[in-house]
Amino acid sequence: MASDLRSACVIGWPVKHSRSPMIHEYWIRQRGIAGQYNREEVMPESFADFVRTLADRGYCGANVTLPHKEAVLALSMPDDRARLVGAANTLWLDGDQLRSTNTDVEGFTANLDAAAPGWDSQLGEVVLLGAGGAACAVVCGLIERGFQRIHVVNRTLGRAQALQARFGETVQPAHWSAVPHLLSRATLLINATTLGMAGQAPLAIDLSPLHPDTVVADIVYVPLMTPLLAAARARRLATADGLGMLLHQAVRGFSLWFGVRPEVTPDLRALVEADIDREFPKSKE
Ligand code: NAP
Repeated sequence: MASDLRSACVIGWPVKHSRSPMIHEYWIRQRGIAGQYNREEVMPESFADFVRTLADRGYCGANVTLPHKEAVLALSMPDDRARLVGAANTLWLDGDQLRSTNTDVEGFTANLDAAAPGWDSQLGEVVLLGAGGAACAVVCGLIERGFQRIHVVNRTLGRAQALQARFGETVQPAHWSAVPHLLSRATLLINATTLGMAGQAPLAIDLSPLHPDTVVADIVYVPLMTPLLAAARARRLATADGLGMLLHQAVRGFSLWFGVRPEVTPDLRALVEADIDREFPKSKE
C-alpha cells in the first residue's frame, strides 16, 4: 500500500447493499486521487472496537450505516447536527480526535437547493410524513433554514411527539386523518416514511389540495420515480427525489477524507440510476 494512499470505508451490518462505494469510487477516479473506499461488515458487538481502531486499520474516516448510526455518537466527538439528530453517518479523524456528523441534514437541503431553487424562500408550512431517523435529519435541516411550522404526520403519534420534544414547538405532531387539511396550507410536502419504497406498502395520498407552488420531496430512492413524485409531476409541481439527497449527503465525507470537494454531476447520477435500475428494473417509471 502506497504511503500517500488515503482510505475510507462504510461500516454497516449488513453493508452489501450500500451504494456509498459506487459514489466515492466515482469521485476518486474522476479526481485522480490516491484513495480507496471499502465496505466493512461489522457486527454490533464488534463495532466499538472497530471504531476505536479505525486509524490503526489505515482509515482516515468512514460512513456509518445501519444499525450503528446511534451507537457511534458515544464513540466519537459529534458536532451539533449529529447531537441534535441523535445519530451520525460520517466519521473523520481530525488529528487524533475522531469526530462525527450527520450529512443527511445537508444532503436533504442541498438536494432541494439543486432541484427546486427557491424552495425555502417562503418559509411557509411544511407537511412531513414520517418520524423515523431520516425524518429527524429532515427536521434539523428545515429548522436550520428557518422553517417555523413543521406538521409531522406519523402512524405512531408518539414518535412525532418525540420529535417535538427534541426540536421544540416548531414541530407539530399530527394524525394521518389531518393530511388533506394540512396539504391545503403546505408550501412543502416531504415523504420520509418507507411507504412507496420497493417492497413496502404504497403511499396513497391525494395531492389535489396542494397549491400549485408547493414543492414535493420524496426521500425514498428505490424506485427512483416514486408514486408520490409521479403524482406531483403530473400536477406540474416542483419535485426533489431521494437519489439527489443520497448523492448530496456524500459530498461532505469525501471532502473531509480526501481534501477535495466533489460535485454531484449528471454522470454520477446516471451511474447510480443504472445500478438501481439493474436491481429494480423499470424503477424510473
Ligand atoms: P425508520 O426510522 O424505520 O422510519 C420509518 C418511517 O416510516 C416511520 O415514520 C414509520 O412510521 C413509517 N412507516 C413505515 N411503514 C409504515 C406504514 N405501513 N404506514 C405508515 N407509516 C409507515 O426509517 P428511516 O431510516 O427514517 O428511513 C425512511 C426512508 O427514508 C427509507 O425509505 C430510507 O431508504 C429513506 N432514506 C433515504 C435517504 C436518502 O439519502 N435519500 C437517507 C435516509 C433514509 P411508524 O413510526 O409509525 O412506524
